[in-house]
Amino acid sequence: MSSEGARPGLLLVLSAPSGAGKTTLAHRFRATHPDAVFSVSATTRAPRGAEREGADYHFVSAEAFSRLVAEGAFAEWAEVFGQRYGTLRSTIDETLRAGRIAIFDIDVQGGEQLHRAFPRDAVTVLIVPPSLAELERRLRGRSTDSDDVIQRRLAAAQAEVARGLSTYDYVVVNDELHAAQARLEAIAAHERSKRGGRADPGAAAAAAECLRHSVDVRAWAP
Ligand code: ADP
Ligand code: 5GP
Repeated sequence: MSSEGARPGLLLVLSAPSGAGKTTLAHRFRATHPDAVFSVSATTRAPRGAEREGADYHFVSAEAFSRLVAEGAFAEWAEVFGQRYGTLRSTIDETLRAGRIAIFDIDVQGGEQLHRAFPRDAVTVLIVPPSLAELERRLRGRSTDSDDVIQRRLAAAQAEVARGLSTYDYVVVNDELHAAQARLEAIAAHERSKRGGRADPGAAAAAAECLRHSVDVRAWAP
């Protein structure tokens, strides 16, 4: 919670279908906000590629995860693709105490839970590519996924976007990278100044254009 004069913390929840550009945007945001930290989730899945313990995830056994659930260590957790993932309460407490920004890379159901648990501190942002066709182009461009896997990712993307479009605070269309980055920065600046009791009219106007109901997402209509 923020107190008069202290910098207010912010829980910046980013959700997106795979391939939308969330990782790219999150890293750019972090580079321009030295006080921002990535929330490192715990997961039961095995590390992939160059992933490192403590940096990408806390990799834990199924038993250890169940213990953490029983201890109430998670602010939210969910099963995604057959593995469990959870956000540690300790990360949130430390971020808010220090008046920092925590960036969360979690799915839409997890974002909804965080929003419910921390209504004053959490802001939810859905990142979408300009269209399903563009998402398909990016997925094909970045990976060697088979057609089958790409089709499954696209179907999952449609469901995730449809849900986020009806529950998230903001929608950032990642058409041109610099423009999307500016939108995300405006949202964070506006939400932070609001919580600190200061006005930032420029950020407020830019953020307002990203409010869920203001964004034209007809390209995502089924
Ligand atoms: P995610 O983390 O959402 O899965 P990534 O950040 O890995 O997505 O981005 C997926 C691919 O799309 C990457 O190859 C990235 O370079 C590319 N990309 C990201 N943003 C844009 C953009 N605005 N325009 C074109 N390509 C983009
Ligand atoms: P991946 O295995 O590709 O790293 O992540 C799979 C999915 O789990 C992604 O959609 C990611 O956003 C989501 N995820 C990662 N950590 C968490 C978490 O702590 N909570 C929830 N609800 N989802 C998470």
